[in-house]
Parts: sequence; C-alpha cells; structure tokens
Amino acid sequence: MKPFRIVLSLILALLFISADIALQTVEAQTQTGKVVGVSDGDTVTILVDKTQVRVRLYGIDAPEGGQDFGRRAKEFASQMVFGKIVTMEVMDIDRYGMTVANILVDGKSLNEELVKAGYAWVYPQYCKIPVCKEWYQYEAEARVQKIGLWSHPNPIPPWDFRRGKHRVSTGIYHGNTRSMVFHQSTCEHFNCKNCTEVFQRREDALKAGYRPCGGCRP
Ligand SMILES: [Zn+2]
Repeated sequence: MKPFRIVLSLILALLFISADIALQTVEAQTQTGKVVGVSDGDTVTILVDKTQVRVRLYGIDAPEGGQDFGRRAKEFASQMVFGKIVTMEVMDIDRYGMTVANILVDGKSLNEELVKAGYAWVYPQYCKIPVCKEWYQYEAEARVQKIGLWSHPNPIPPWDFRRGKHRVSTGIYHGNTRSMVFHQSTCEHFNCKNCTEVFQRREDALKAGYRPCGGCRP
C-alpha cells in the first residue's frame, strides 16, 4: 500500500503545481477572438479557439439590465465590439471562474470607452492598475458633461443596485397571493409559484395589503 500512497501524493502534488502554473499563464495572457455575444454593458462572450469565453470587463461596472441606461450601455458595447475580432488582456479569473479582461478593438479599450461615454462607472473596489486614474478622470468629465447615465440627477451605482439598497425607486415587486408577502427582484422568492401579483411601487404593495418579505426586506 505504501508505494501506492507515494505515487498518489506525487500525482496530487503535480496536479496542484500545474493548476498553479496554468493560472499564472492565464493572468499574463493576451488572447484574440471574435465577440459572439454581449450580455450587458460589461459582460461579453468571446470565441477563442472554438471555445466560448464569458468575459467581464476589468475595473468598470455598467448599469444592470433592470437599471436606467442598462440597455443603452449594452447597445454601446454591442456597437463597439459585436462581431469584431478583439484582443483581450486577461487581468484575472474571478471567484466564479469568469475571465476578467481589458478588451481592445481598433486601438481602443472598450472598458475605457464605456466610462468616457457615461455608460459605466469605474469600479473602485476592483480598478487597481495605473490606467484607472485616467478612467476616473474620464468618469468625472462625463459627469460634468451630464452624458449617458450622468444625465440622471442621482444615478445608482450598480454595486448598490445589486445589493438592493435603493429598492424604492427601482425595479418591481412580486406579491405572493397566498401568504400576502411581497418580494423585490433580488429575492430568491421573487418568482415563487404564487408570486403572481406585480407592483411597480412598494407603496402599492403595502396599500394592497401585502407585507414586506423578512428575507429581502423590500
Ligand atoms: Zn423576499
């Protein structure tokens, strides 16, 4: 049994080492591929060597689909890269296994152009390379010019939106017609079997006799 154990641990050690090497090469990699999908302003799918790679744009955050300018941000990204051959500078693989990259097309950075056009925020928590300083500058300029999402007096950063901080002004609510509890869109119960009553505003749900869910706290 002993030799077998030694071999097994050797194999395991090798596996770990190669996984480590793979990750390191990925981090330094530049890849070229064709953009075959744009999910939203900051997420695209790139075909690299017959493999579809879902890529999140590094250092920025575009409005979500359900947010103001979410659709415009997606359109902007589509116009710039959809169907085109792009170069991605892979910066990271996130904890969900998603590739995080700078996307370059026709000598421009999609990440940067989104910020310039007012369709994305610089993501303070994640933008950590020298160029981020320039991106903050572009964001400030877009803000002053009131272009894109900055035409709104008080735009909600997507990272707040996802946390459901600004529930009152955004999204819709689903009421459970049996339990008379209502949920916001971030809730796991949002689309439950009896959650068929739809409210545009929190007040409407309350007026109709629904109680806020204790989990998602709409
Ligand atoms: Zn809920």
